[in-house]
Amino acid sequence: MTVSTERDDLLLAYAAGMLPEAPSLVVAAQASLRSDVRRAVGEYEAVAGALLEESEAAELSCDLRANVLALLDEDLPDTARPPQRGDQRVPAPLWGYVGTDVERLGWRRVMPGLKDCVLPTSGGGTARLMWVKGGTKVPAHTHQGLEMTLVLEGAFSDPTGTYGPGDLQLADGGLDHSPAAESGSHCLCLVVTEAPIRLTGRFGRLMNRFIRY
Ligand code: ZN
Repeated sequence: MTVSTERDDLLLAYAAGMLPEAPSLVVAAQASLRSDVRRAVGEYEAVAGALLEESEAAELSCDLRANVLALLDEDLPDTARPPQRGDQRVPAPLWGYVGTDVERLGWRRVMPGLKDCVLPTSGGGTARLMWVKGGTKVPAHTHQGLEMTLVLEGAFSDPTGTYGPGDLQLADGGLDHSPAAESGSHCLCLVVTEAPIRLTGRFGRLMNRFIRY
């Protein structure tokens, strides 16, 4: 999976149906939460459609062209699993993946105050829900690819800013951070990583042996 960390490139790739399932899920979820993202996706779908209209010369196969055009016709949310009734605390595009109340998911305890649950997606990247207790710091780490973090509940902060519900952080190998959930309330996020993160803190080298995230 090669995905740009630029928001606009990401939205264009999504609109053109070029993103794998996991990062598509993040864009669809954010679009369902924020009208500005919905609007931007709509604009990029128009751009992608116009580009495809001119694609005769680009020699796209008939199948690919038909598939992408069909995809552009679909309404949001646009993910592989159709929405179904689900936990209202997560955006509708996630319902088909979560399938139950968030509390009843098969959470994996990563460390005190931090648990996660991998969602079933195919293609590049890993999607997971991450639950961080208020005031808890995620261990310092950098990235071996793109990391997309969409806040669903609560908020977290790192040196790049504070992120609340509907906010999306895009991080890559250029960022070494230790995000902290705001005190007082937990932070629930949808996180997609292209590759396992690499812990960088004082004990990071040791912990890398035990935590595959
Ligand atoms: Zn990170």
